[in-house]
Amino acid sequence: MSDETTADDVSVIVVGGGPAGLSAALFTAKNGLETTVFDTDETWMHKAHLFNYLGIGSVGGSEFMATARQQVDDFGVDRRQDEEVTAVTESGDGFLVETSVASETQRADGDRAELRSADHSSGQRPRKEAVDAAGEYDADFVVLATGANRELADDLGCTFADDDTVDVGVEMETSVEGVYATGAMVRPEEWQAAIAVGDGAAAALNILSTVKGEHYHDFDVPDDATRVFGEHVAE
Ligand SMILES: Cc1cc2nc3c(=O)[nH]c(=O)nc-3n(C[C@H](O)[C@H](O)[C@H](O)COP(=O)(O)OP(=O)(O)OC[C@H]3O[C@@H](n4cnc5c(N)ncnc54)[C@H](O)[C@@H]3O)c2cc1C
Repeated sequence: MSDETTADDVSVIVVGGGPAGLSAALFTAKNGLETTVFDTDETWMHKAHLFNYLGIGSVGGSEFMATARQQVDDFGVDRRQDEEVTAVTESGDGFLVETSVASETQRADGDRAELRSADHSSGQRPRKEAVDAAGEYDADFVVLATGANRELADDLGCTFADDDTVDVGVEMETSVEGVYATGAMVRPEEWQAAIAVGDGAAAALNILSTVKGEHYHDFDVPDDATRVFGEHVAE
């Protein structure tokens, strides 16, 4: 990024649309950064029911995800469901992100989950016949939020801790400047939705602080509700 860069020029790619990834995307998009999320919808939340998410008494994991997806969509996130990131490489001042899309046939056959798990466990890329489109995207920042799958971080050369998690501090930035790791990939266990959401928020705020050149927080007050949601705000 040049010294002339403004928030409007900055692009963030989030890999993974579980709680960690969508949380990061919410904060970056809400604060003016061009934000794209790629997700293959294998989030563990589809298996969960939350009774331990502070402020929410009881909610199904898939229902939680539906609300989260609507929330990020409302703030302008470009959410690309079923588009898998196959590679992230450093490119100039930023990153090149390569993707592939499972074919309609694969989706209709319900074969996608099998395809994904085969890819991740073996380290193999999608079978050629299962891919009907591919893309290349540039990003100034990349947030990795691929659950416990640490393959992309490994490929990028991020430093790992002794327990095989991706090594990050409280800002969630990896040893590769501009690349963040969040959620299950940065902890050996202690996997909770609330922690993943916090990781995503921390990564996004660090990106925003970097872009703005000073420490940044995203505070709203009651009057902002009218500005943001207009007539939808409850009296
Ligand atoms: C049975 C079960 C019950 C649980 N119950 C609770 C509970 O009660 N309370 C609680 O707090 N937590 C619970 N959890 C844990 C919670 O689901 C996880 O902590 C949380 O989902 C982790 O969020 P994450 O964003 O790190 O990863 P995930 O939710 O796993 O999301 C990662 C996303 O990244 C996508 N992805 C991966 N690789 C790529 C790629 N290359 N390109 C594009 N997309 C990719 C995946 O498809 C997935 O959608 C439970 C988990 C399980 C399995």
